[in-house]
Amino acid sequence: MEEQLIIDHEYIYSLLEETQNPAKEEVERVLAKASRFEHLSHRDIATLLQVDDEDVMKQVFKIAGQIKRRIYGNRIVIFAPLYLSSYCVNNCVYCGYKKDNEIARRRLSMEEIQEEVMNLEEMGHKRLALEAGEDPKNCDIDYIVDAIKAVYDTYNENGNIRRVNINIAATTVEDYRKLKDAGIGTYILFQETYHRPTYEAMHLSGPKKSYDYHITAFNRAMEAGIDDVGAGVLFGLYDYKFEVLALMLHNEYLERNYNVGFHTISVPRIKAAKGMNLDEFPYLLRDEEFKKIVAIIRLAVPFTGIILSTRESQAMRQEVIEYGVSQISAGSCTGVGGYKKGEERRDESQFQVADNRRPLDVLKGLLKDGHIPSYCTACYRMGRTGDRFMSLAKSGEIQNVCHPNALMTLMEYALDYGDEEFKEAVGDMVYQEVDRIGNDKIRLQLLFNLEKIKEGSRDLYF
Ligand code: SAM
Repeated sequence: MEEQLIIDHEYIYSLLEETQNPAKEEVERVLAKASRFEHLSHRDIATLLQVDDEDVMKQVFKIAGQIKRRIYGNRIVIFAPLYLSSYCVNNCVYCGYKKDNEIARRRLSMEEIQEEVMNLEEMGHKRLALEAGEDPKNCDIDYIVDAIKAVYDTYNENGNIRRVNINIAATTVEDYRKLKDAGIGTYILFQETYHRPTYEAMHLSGPKKSYDYHITAFNRAMEAGIDDVGAGVLFGLYDYKFEVLALMLHNEYLERNYNVGFHTISVPRIKAAKGMNLDEFPYLLRDEEFKKIVAIIRLAVPFTGIILSTRESQAMRQEVIEYGVSQISAGSCTGVGGYKKGEERRDESQFQVADNRRPLDVLKGLLKDGHIPSYCTACYRMGRTGDRFMSLAKSGEIQNVCHPNALMTLMEYALDYGDEEFKEAVGDMVYQEVDRIGNDKIRLQLLFNLEKIKEGSRDLYF
């Protein structure tokens, strides 16, 4: 029989209790382990979470950066959210879409979805995360499946969206099968908080009220054959130390029972929204704590992607990319119909965003800081998902696949969407990176493909 998923609160409390005010030698022992890229125990992770000392934190950030560079190189994957529907039957205290908020609700028609997608494609996006409130009447699974098809079927002169991730409410195995059949990338669901009493206080009514149903969503998704699942915590609802340890326990549970843990972990921080007051949330994080979370997650699960949204400012995004973030959104709108052009946006957003730069400016910033923005979607399209992706990542082979793919998508982007300055910067960077590729066969094939891209070929990948 399958093991029951239990986040043992007493165990987490005891880890945090035992590691309070850790001795210097103990912290040094954990740091030494981390810098040798060794697996960290729960107690090791708890020890690091308890540290506040600035100098120790600098070391944690440095090691996290080293791990990131070693596993992910200097690539950053880019995506955008697309809000489909603001109907919601839940009352989540923190959310602008909560049922009790009087807002003009709507959902996009298939034509409107395609219009939004055209506008996202004009910004160069190739990966989307579809978002929706939970409402079995106004936004059922068949609507979501039709929306996925509509997205994949929308083309502009430079191609189409190549990967659609889905962030919708916990549902049944049958519904997850429909998502799987529709060809989704990652199924993303945030636990919001793993702390049961806080979860219950934050989710007042609606299906999301059930902690047990929500936390077992990935079991059902995996049963339906979805092997890329993306977790997250809404940081600011409860003690971040508890949440990071609980994320690790959840991840290990999935590894034990389904051979693969989280594909990604998102690190949203709570933002102001309609119908809530940030002053009423006692666990809001300081920036230093937020950076610490990202770095410790990177140390604890080196092969799991970390996703950062535009909830964070440009400056914070620039900084934590160095400590372990591997995917960021760009040019995001968090309202239904938010990408519509030339009109007042008709819908209210779910929460406020803090980085309003257009994607090209985000990409310019990344390039300036030595990162390679990537629109690569190859793994999912080549069937490298779940444990196949993880074994590729763990073998280090990923460098021979993701790196050249990232360079090809960057070249495509520059040619199709870049201005002269950007095209020049990309040209310089791409060929410098090509020169560093040690594998002759891959380097030569990549050079050949880059020429083909310049001649007009698109969507080439390894
Ligand atoms: N309705 C689905 C669900 O319940 O999982 C989809 C989620 S919603 C479109 C995406 C995420 O936004 C939520 O899981 C939550 O973590 C986050 N969110 C909600 N209110 C927020 C706020 N005020 N600030 C930041 N993030 C928020």
